[in-house]
Amino acid sequence: MPELPEVEHVKRGLSPKIEGLTIQDVTFSETVIKAHDAGRKAVVKGEGLDSFKYAVENRVISSIDRRSKYLLFRLGEAEEGMLILSHLGMTGAWFVVEELGEILEDRFRNHVHVIFTLSNGQKLVYSDIRRFGEMRFLPSEEAHPPLAEIGPEPFDEDADIRFLAALSIPKFSRKPIKEAIMHHSVIAGCGNIYATEALFKAGVSPKRRTDRLSLKKKKELFQHIVDVLHEGIAAGGSSISDYRNVNGEAGGMQERLQMYAKSVCPVCQSPVKKAVVGGRTSHYCTTCQR
Ligand SMILES: [Zn+2]
Repeated sequence: MPELPEVEHVKRGLSPKIEGLTIQDVTFSETVIKAHDAGRKAVVKGEGLDSFKYAVENRVISSIDRRSKYLLFRLGEAEEGMLILSHLGMTGAWFVVEELGEILEDRFRNHVHVIFTLSNGQKLVYSDIRRFGEMRFLPSEEAHPPLAEIGPEPFDEDADIRFLAALSIPKFSRKPIKEAIMHHSVIAGCGNIYATEALFKAGVSPKRRTDRLSLKKKKELFQHIVDVLHEGIAAGGSSISDYRNVNGEAGGMQERLQMYAKSVCPVCQSPVKKAVVGGRTSHYCTTCQR
């Protein structure tokens, strides 16, 4: 599943290709049209397909932002506040092409669900193999309450203070630390892969109760989260399953992971333990992580 570094790369890839261009036309795949006709809002959420098309056509894509694992395509003038919100789900990918044939991998090309024709003739294409991703038109960010729940971006200046404060509220202080740091109101964009790596580097067991960690250890953990997300961005994201950037390329971070999905600890060579924490499979070393 794409996490913060991957979504950041999608944003960086798209920005120079589409900012300032106008959406001239939007078309949907047969699969999406049929699902909507049957009352299932596949891929395009919120209003129906006609409303989505009406809302976004003839609008300029002024900029693209990332918030946690969401992409925000800002439409029109900033003060208008309109946007398309996109979440990649498990297998979503965006491409910018002249022709669909430029999407080299069959499984992405065969699962194109939304095509935006832009004012320079290029196509902004959303492909999603498993269709867990979604997009929706919003008149403003406030129109979608889940966006307001998202905690600080890890690279924000005051993110550490807000992270520490969130960990000390009862909702999180009694939870296992991994469950707490993966909650997007504690910190944005720290999913299973990066949480696993940060806990390993900090020497903290994913099952450790949050309020049993010293302030010093929580600060260290925060820094490891920031570092591992930076490393993920620098490596082009991780492509454990189906992540591709805008140019169809996989990331390289999966080569650098030390604990996620490993069977042997790279530090002490102990067998890696697996446990379910907060509903997600966690890999950790019982010797190196306490
Ligand atoms: Zn170890």
